[in-house]
Amino acid sequence: MNYYIKTFGCQMNVTDSERIATVLEDMGYKPCSEIDKADLIVVNMCSVRQTAVDRVFGQIKNFKKLKKQNPKLKTILTGCVLKQDLKKFQEKYDYVLPKENLSHWKQKLKPPSNKASCAKPGLAQNSYLKIKPKYVSKFSACVPIITGCNNFCSYCVVPYTRGPEVSRPVKDILNEIKWLVENNYKEIWLIGENVNSYKSKNINFSKLLKMINDIPGNFWVRFTSSHPKDFTNQLIETIAKSEKITKYISLPVQSGDDTILKKMNRPYNIKQYKDLIKKIRKQIPNVVLSTDVIVGFGNETKKQFQNTIKLFQEIKPDMAYVAQYSPRQGTASYRIKDNVSHEEKIKRDKAITKTLKQVALRNNKKYIGETLEMLVEYERKGWLVGKTRNYKTIKIKIPARIATRASELARLRSVAGGQNLIGKFIKVKVVDTIPWGLKAEFLRSL
Ligand code: SF4
Repeated sequence: MNYYIKTFGCQMNVTDSERIATVLEDMGYKPCSEIDKADLIVVNMCSVRQTAVDRVFGQIKNFKKLKKQNPKLKTILTGCVLKQDLKKFQEKYDYVLPKENLSHWKQKLKPPSNKASCAKPGLAQNSYLKIKPKYVSKFSACVPIITGCNNFCSYCVVPYTRGPEVSRPVKDILNEIKWLVENNYKEIWLIGENVNSYKSKNINFSKLLKMINDIPGNFWVRFTSSHPKDFTNQLIETIAKSEKITKYISLPVQSGDDTILKKMNRPYNIKQYKDLIKKIRKQIPNVVLSTDVIVGFGNETKKQFQNTIKLFQEIKPDMAYVAQYSPRQGTASYRIKDNVSHEEKIKRDKAITKTLKQVALRNNKKYIGETLEMLVEYERKGWLVGKTRNYKTIKIKIPARIATRASELARLRSVAGGQNLIGKFIKVKVVDTIPWGLKAEFLRSL
């Protein structure tokens, strides 16, 4: 019996799916890469945007066809499901099961083989985070450190779908990372809705980073997402001093206008945000900064939107995730009339992206001629693509003609000691820039 997991949304959902895979395989199911070969389909959904919910509804049509082909097919919905959507989904899926109680899944699903009887009793009875994930990658892994959120930004469903913040015990986090490092993982992402409010006994996020930095081995640590209100001086100092903590900070601002920030229930103003960025840049000069913004949030005027453009021109982020506001039922801002048209939101999205492209390209110019470390992630269309230590996308050109390309790959492998370079650290020299990254030449493997 085969299973197929379709994951929507953020890295938290990706890592949840890795744990669901463990439980299903423990029951005797086998993974399959094509949905129409599955006997069990798990949809791990996201409710943050209406478009994501619509895509989950879209899957249902496909199920009807698949069930005709395979009458034994069962479907499960899990992940971030809003209460008001629950009933509609319960009618369409065989099961709607919370991922936090994976032991319950075993009672619901008939095990496909005797193997299930060998499954450890109460595997997921404690926290589901104690389940060892089936990591999707062999060199990069997401390690959840905190789940849930207490911030109640007025547009966001996460506090309702994931509940209040719960920090994972330090010991569990360190053990997971030690295992990953011993098994040659090079990039560790610490993830949570609000990582910098981490608190377990007397260990805060800054102390946790120091403890992770002390783990022996050659690896990089990244983290997301951070809230500006919890970005302390102590944390900035720790990032600056800790070698393995990469100098990449994602700090969502959401809007460049104080009135909009208030409506969003974001407890800072633009001056405070800019001061924080200034402080970070002073103490961590080579930092790469990323931010998130929502355009067209409840009644955002053209002038208020221009304040976000102005902010981008001032703080010059290297990256930004732009979302067009869509009201979510059950959130506080659902009551605010959404009077910015869809067309206007698209226009604002394009305008902010254009500004970002200009500032990001200018930021990238300073890397030309520099020698950097790169973690190679994949090969695509004649390029080896990866990330620098501070999370810049970087590409090495492999000549286009197949024969030349093969010989170039062979050359890269031979200088790299015959190794496959995917998942390895290498040294490169930056030769050119593009708005969203850098182009480089291979120097040597590390
Ligand atoms: Fe949502 Fe705000 Fe919490 Fe982020 S900090 S998960 S946007 S409520």
